[in-house]
Amino acid sequence: MTESPYWNPRHETMPRDRIEALQARKLRNLVEWADSSVPWQSKRLRDAGVTPDQVSSLDDLQQIPLMTREDWMQGQLEHPPYGPILAAAPESAIRYHMTSGTTGATPIRVLDGMKDWEWIAEMWCYGLWGFGVRPSDIVFVAFGYSTFIGFWGLHYAGEKIGCLVLPGGAMTTDQRVRQIVDMGATVVCSTPTYALRMAQEAKSMGVDLAGSSVQRLILSGEPAGSIPATKKLIEREWVAMAGDTAGMTELGTIMIFECAEQPGGTHIIEDHYIEEVLDPESGKPVPYGEMGERVVTSFGRGFIPVFRYRTRDLVVKVPGSSCRCGRTFDIYEGGIRGRVDDMKLVRGTNVYPRAVEAIVREFPEIDEFQIHLYTAEGIRDEIEVLMEIPDVDADPYRIMGEVGKKLADAHEGLRFGVKQAETGTLPRFELKAKRMLDERIVIGTEGERRSQP
Ligand SMILES: [Zn+2]
Repeated sequence: MTESPYWNPRHETMPRDRIEALQARKLRNLVEWADSSVPWQSKRLRDAGVTPDQVSSLDDLQQIPLMTREDWMQGQLEHPPYGPILAAAPESAIRYHMTSGTTGATPIRVLDGMKDWEWIAEMWCYGLWGFGVRPSDIVFVAFGYSTFIGFWGLHYAGEKIGCLVLPGGAMTTDQRVRQIVDMGATVVCSTPTYALRMAQEAKSMGVDLAGSSVQRLILSGEPAGSIPATKKLIEREWVAMAGDTAGMTELGTIMIFECAEQPGGTHIIEDHYIEEVLDPESGKPVPYGEMGERVVTSFGRGFIPVFRYRTRDLVVKVPGSSCRCGRTFDIYEGGIRGRVDDMKLVRGTNVYPRAVEAIVREFPEIDEFQIHLYTAEGIRDEIEVLMEIPDVDADPYRIMGEVGKKLADAHEGLRFGVKQAETGTLPRFELKAKRMLDERIVIGTEGERRSQP
């Protein structure tokens, strides 16, 4: 049993037609439950002509209205504090979480019951087990354990598998590094940015991570775990395998994970979610291999039925057969590619933060960076990349020259300013790094600053 590479061998290798039949059955149950337990959902479904008895195949999904974050927030404003979305009485909840607030002023607030937490841990088990975590592992969780959902579910999944779990909350970075080494942790869980930060800290402490017991890093919270240059840098610094995962507060847990074969993407947990990829403009499905917006329907949550939620995440879906692991679960090639709202238009050229990061991370001497957009002389959009290069043996002029050339080559010749920032002056992140600073003036509204996404 412990030799199986799959957490749920039957479902993870199910033929496509049977996965789809299972999803259709679960969809019908979900509609039935929402219709009978959540008047707000029932009205939305019935207004669209959807009733439980007519859901018989996955095609019926298209009749169900899309839900946006704005719908969710509006519901919370009208019916504070949780909105009209709960399918159970708040008194029966055992846990509260909220979004980290990187987008929009109002956080999304969610409640979970006992059953949710069993499911949340189960979803993380697919990911941990699939990446090779086993009961003998010692798992260090470098995470703040706050009302942000983060690695909470991973913590319980580690326990469920039978690992020894070390909760690394309320610690400084050097304390975390010390504990990882002293306790012989074999698995470390953090955001990609924080994995690099711990590696930097280890260096300045004189700790050699290559000599530590760490074999695997489980990354989450930012898309960078699937940016090849960032992943390679993390793996080199830690001398360990890094696996990407992604989840969201609205679902309470992860919906995609990278398997031990490291196919350059993340498998979708398709027996618990329907993940659609739609054109963000038209809302129409896009075929395999084309980029679109992730839209998720979740079967697991016990407090909140989620139908066709527009995540704003950009993804490219490919068939599961493109990975050697034998799973039939489809893959998001390259993980989450960014967000629909991430793209910046600079003098007619599209700039994605992910593409900039992919170039910057080819230079391990660069410790931290920031993309800065501003308006020059009141009219012209300018983009510059600020970078810290603390290594006294590095040649910053050579590095900046090469970064500038690669950025221009990758952006139709667009000229990027490249500047060295004083060491320690750029913001550091433990969760959800935010390296794009857009201070451009919106034309026509003199002096008004463009709001951050
Ligand atoms: Zn695989």
